[in-house]
Amino acid sequence: MPQYAPNAKPRPDCWNWGEPRFPQGYGILRLDERHFTAAHKWVYEQLIGEVPDGFELDHLCRNRNCINPDHLEVVTHRVNSIRGFDAVLKERYTRQLPEREQAAV
Ligand SMILES: [Zn+2]
Repeated sequence: MPQYAPNAKPRPDCWNWGEPRFPQGYGILRLDERHFTAAHKWVYEQLIGEVPDGFELDHLCRNRNCINPDHLEVVTHRVNSIRGFDAVLKERYTRQLPEREQAAV
């Protein structure tokens, strides 16, 4: 299991990208000679829709190599970060969020 997510439990329906991948574990898609992008984001935008500015995709399956759009959710960076915390930190930081974001944690 990659180091970034020791508790990751890929689900049977994960679409694992494989290689190449960024050091953080996300699959790399080569668009042309000089341009690369995160494979999961590209697939999500092709199949579901654009990720709005200021938002990012959270892997609900905690498997960063997965590109299955059903396993991805559009959330703010703050919510995405807090979801990765342990229970104590999660509670502390969630209380500081605006109400509409608290519901997403
Ligand atoms: Zn997955």
